[in-house]
Amino acid sequence: MEFDTELLHGGISEDETTGAMSVPIYMASTFHQKKLGQNKYEYSRSGNPTRDALESLMATIEHGTAGFAFASGLAAISTFFNLFESGDHFVVGDDVYGGTFRMIDAVFKKMGMTFTTVDTRDLAAVEAAITPETKAVYLESPSNPLLKVTDIQAVAEIAKAHHLMTVVDNTFASPYIQHPLDLGADVVLHSASKYLGGHSDLIGGIIVTKVDVLGERVGYLQNSLGGILAPQESWLLQRGIKTLALRMRAHLANAELVFNYLKARPEVAKIYYPGDKDNPDYPVAKKQMNGFGAMISFELQPGLDPVKFVENLQVITLAESLGALESLIEIPALMTHGSIPREVRLASGIQDELIRMSVGVEDSRDLIADLDRGFDAITK
Ligand code: PLP
Repeated sequence: MEFDTELLHGGISEDETTGAMSVPIYMASTFHQKKLGQNKYEYSRSGNPTRDALESLMATIEHGTAGFAFASGLAAISTFFNLFESGDHFVVGDDVYGGTFRMIDAVFKKMGMTFTTVDTRDLAAVEAAITPETKAVYLESPSNPLLKVTDIQAVAEIAKAHHLMTVVDNTFASPYIQHPLDLGADVVLHSASKYLGGHSDLIGGIIVTKVDVLGERVGYLQNSLGGILAPQESWLLQRGIKTLALRMRAHLANAELVFNYLKARPEVAKIYYPGDKDNPDYPVAKKQMNGFGAMISFELQPGLDPVKFVENLQVITLAESLGALESLIEIPALMTHGSIPREVRLASGIQDELIRMSVGVEDSRDLIADLDRGFDAITK
């Protein structure tokens, strides 16, 4: 099946017992075992039909063998790191979601794991950071918030040569745009709260694994740690995923228009967007992505106030998160990446003035008029 079809018919897409075309929300904690130990489902932490449907759909659309749904993106990421133990080392992209950085820095370091952050676009730096204790290379592409695009295939080749796992947080791209497992990654992660859900109405996380043995280990931890996605959210997420391709096409078209507009504005000092032909990441983005995503970050000229800019918008909503139908805008230094110490943040290139926009699917004329309003507010 082609991707658009898979979204509707992939995995378990209808109820096996009734044929209902939307797998029902099985609000059950436990299941009657008429013959002891013979049930497919026993207890909803270890397996629930609604979550199962979502997980099988995710495995299909991410081209993996098994999918796992969690209560949040961070619950998925923490489950992944629980595969490892004290003394293990990781090479991590230097531009990752602030909450991922906080988890590594404040939780897993304390448990004796070690991390080296590198710009994973720099293949020599990735190779140089590997030690005998290294277990995995962990990266986002495009990254949050600087939209750095890493050559996933090249990194995966280096990792394989050293017997390491490659793990890609695919939240910013979504499987409509990019399939990390096809590029050689072993694990793909998502904050499903973003493009997968798409409607600003749920928090969830996903892991998809490429091989069965790894899937079994993640499944064991999902049940042992218990951070599962509840049936209601699982249903809502599967419903959101059905329209992923339709939404992504609208996001991509609008993002290109907004990028062209912002690029021409004299108030914009620097712009980050993988589809910018002047961006050194453009050739890699073109090679591995089906479209350039709908996230744009930009810095205003020195002296222009980013807070005033975002507070004066009326359509583009000042809010954390991304990947919603609604356009969202935020200031990473004060919001999503506020948990990163300022000197670390500045060293990785996230300036105080940086603005990150998630381009939604509103009529682009309203988005441009709104951005005009923002620029008027800071220049007049
Ligand atoms: N990964 C990325 C790239 C994110 O942007 C986020 C949240 O913004 C997360 C993971 C964490 O996901 P959640 O907020 O669903 O826990």
